[in-house]
Amino acid sequence: MSYKYLSMPVYRLLQEFKTDPMKIFDYLELVYKVINGTENKIRSFITLISKDIVFKYVEKLVKEGLEKFDSLKLLGIPIAVKDNISTKGIRTTCASRMLENYIPPYNATVIERIIKEGGIIIGKTNMDEFAMGSTTETSAFYPTRNPWDLSRVPGGSSGGSAAALSAGEAPLALGSDTGGSIRNPAAFCGVYGLKPTYGLVSRYGLIAYASSMDQIGPMARNTMDLAILLNIIAGHDSKDSTSLLINGKDYVSLLKELTHKEPRLRIGIIKELFENSDEGIRSKTYKAVDMLCAYHDCLTISLPYGKQLVAAYYIIAMAEASSNLARFDGVRYGLKIPFENKGWDEIYSEVRTKGFGYEVKKRIALGAYILSVGYRDMYYIRALKFRRILKETFDKIFKSVDAVMSPTMPILPPKLGEFFEDPLRMYLADVNTVIANLIGVPAISIPIDFYNGLPVAVQIMSRQLTEEVLLYLSMQLEEKTRFRNIVAEVH
Ligand code: GLN
Repeated sequence: MSYKYLSMPVYRLLQEFKTDPMKIFDYLELVYKVINGTENKIRSFITLISKDIVFKYVEKLVKEGLEKFDSLKLLGIPIAVKDNISTKGIRTTCASRMLENYIPPYNATVIERIIKEGGIIIGKTNMDEFAMGSTTETSAFYPTRNPWDLSRVPGGSSGGSAAALSAGEAPLALGSDTGGSIRNPAAFCGVYGLKPTYGLVSRYGLIAYASSMDQIGPMARNTMDLAILLNIIAGHDSKDSTSLLINGKDYVSLLKELTHKEPRLRIGIIKELFENSDEGIRSKTYKAVDMLCAYHDCLTISLPYGKQLVAAYYIIAMAEASSNLARFDGVRYGLKIPFENKGWDEIYSEVRTKGFGYEVKKRIALGAYILSVGYRDMYYIRALKFRRILKETFDKIFKSVDAVMSPTMPILPPKLGEFFEDPLRMYLADVNTVIANLIGVPAISIPIDFYNGLPVAVQIMSRQLTEEVLLYLSMQLEEKTRFRNIVAEVH
């Protein structure tokens, strides 16, 4: 199979596979060839399923599934999965020593749904430890590199998933997003990423970071492929108590319908988020604004919050993290050490000292402090109040516009190590993305162009449960920019 198949979108691959299921093997052969050629440079994966195992699995799938091929919506499509999403029988580490040898006895709901549709899990991708970070450098194992420039980070925390996509190691991926972890690496690697409305996609089997904001979402190399994966993972799940009581919509049909009818929408351009971005980002993203506003009605809107957004997000995220990660005690969860004659406190302390990395420890300590008597009113409660105000602000904004637009990231992908020396700068770079998680609305990152050889992306947010609006606008931009199905040549 020639390399032209590498940049083939999933919706085309599906057609090919349905007419001739043997092509699945050819395509997998190609994917593994790419992985063999690039993985030692990029390191997108923590666990890669061997080609032999995958081939055996597909042989079985093809034999058993022949009659129902037409109904399988992901037949033969390889998918890279972030390593904080539980996969039965496949090591799930959260990029942490704490879970280095953990093999889940069950699948996350999203995995169940993908497998049922004939999708093929080919590996578990690298990430920031417990999804805490923006660069994939806090992984306990090794950093992942940006396929467009190996001296730079791929973004994070779903950096492995984004890098795998842009390097051609997989055509589809899953990420998770608590404050931007799908959109940030999607922007840095030049791929598409969508954080769904809070509660639309089941969190059952997602290892928790900050439960009130965590959300699993699709990542792909074009808009339609995002819709295909969203179709499968969205919709109510009784195993997740925060899962909304709704069926997912048929996003593929809705996307086709909207692209055909082309309704004119009202779009708010968030002034401050453009002005506070680096020069290269600003000039490129304003061009994308022009493209959409040539057709839609745009108005400039103001969001006067800046640093408060980041402060509120990190206070809430750390508070929830300190509580969620308390379960890793070495008895029920986490690293196993010989108990000998040690007391519970010694075991607890040793397990957590060895199991967690620096960033995770820092956040647990700060989170516990934020929630402690005497300080919680000053930090945690205030952050929650701000969250409410922000929600009300956007309720108002969404009365007058259908969507709001900003750059996804205010900066280009930094060099490896750059943020390590300046963690505050790393936190502040999340300013545009944390909004959607604080208020629970959907948000998409759309790659639009390159600046100095590095990808640049815009972010669009819309009202709760209007993912189709984001997909529609993304498709319109995709048509104009032709930024689709692009695979980086890794040198
Ligand atoms: N960079 C943010 C953080 O470190 C977002 C991470 C995420 O979305 N998982 O918390």
